[in-house]
Amino acid sequence: MAIVESKGLILFAKNHKEKDKLVKIFTESAGKQMFYVRGAHRKNNPLQPAIMPFTEATYISQFSEQGLSFLHAAKHIHPFRHLQEDIFLAGYATYLLNLADAAIEDRVYDPHLYQFLKEALHFIDEGKDAEIITNIFEVQVLQRFGVQFEWQHCAICGETHGKFDFSSKYSGVLCERHWSLDERRYHADPKAIHFLRLFHQIDYQKIDTIQVSTETKQVIRTVLDELYEEFVGIHLKSKSFIDQMKSWQQIVKRDEQ
Ligand SMILES: [Zn+2]
Repeated sequence: MAIVESKGLILFAKNHKEKDKLVKIFTESAGKQMFYVRGAHRKNNPLQPAIMPFTEATYISQFSEQGLSFLHAAKHIHPFRHLQEDIFLAGYATYLLNLADAAIEDRVYDPHLYQFLKEALHFIDEGKDAEIITNIFEVQVLQRFGVQFEWQHCAICGETHGKFDFSSKYSGVLCERHWSLDERRYHADPKAIHFLRLFHQIDYQKIDTIQVSTETKQVIRTVLDELYEEFVGIHLKSKSFIDQMKSWQQIVKRDEQ
């Protein structure tokens, strides 16, 4: 096993025996790898800051073809501070990390997904709208789950303007004139479909240009939940956590008034 350097993002860490940890890292050069970190709980372990949740670093390690990989050292450690300190932001970030973990097999080289995930964490950490970034990630990562839809134009006639609805039957959006072709279309709020069409192709850098009201965020959430239920079918604890979190946020805001 050769010793290699690769950038990586901590996906999660869990305790193993008394002093050790199993740490899953999404590496840029060798996909997701599970590492065994001996003595991870020792205070003077120099690896400690590099295996904290919400951290990117360059990891020096030996990748194993199967089983556990070994972590030797780390440098250029970049903690996402706000994600580490803010429980709400941490909720969104954990969900994105879990989605990336679920979307591809371990050890699969996927630098695009790596970059996409890293940018999402970076922008949430910078204080951009975590809900919108999460939605953009959810729409675009669908492809990694083997799900591809026609978002650009009506799946029947190619129309790009006007109101749209989503149709599972036609694997994409339908313009209003063609809604009658699928009685079981989503009957979604056209505003939600408008934003999903936009999110499907937007870069995070451009999110400052879009304004989404709380009501519209809710209808977007509803459609995304339906899509994930029908086409992905995974139920992540971190997703339920976000859903619950929204009701606490309202309580916190009410108390602050
Ligand atoms: Zn049409």
